[in-house]
Amino acid sequence: MSNALQGVKCSVKNCKYNDAGSLCTASAIEVNVDGGGSSARQSQETNCKTFQTSM
Ligand code: SF4
Repeated sequence: MSNALQGVKCSVKNCKYNDAGSLCTASAIEVNVDGGGSSARQSQETNCKTFQTSM
């Protein structure tokens, strides 16, 4: 049984917290707007600040 965050689906396979290509095993995540600010118009303008490369 994975310790993945409930309800979080992530496809960033090269993140060290990613498990099985869809689960996040970080203790918590921070999501920000691309380029700063606090208003995104679409999901593509958001990103996970907690990401860390697995390489
Ligand atoms: S930390 Fe962010 S990028 Fe990494 S697996 Fe979790 S949600 Fe995905």
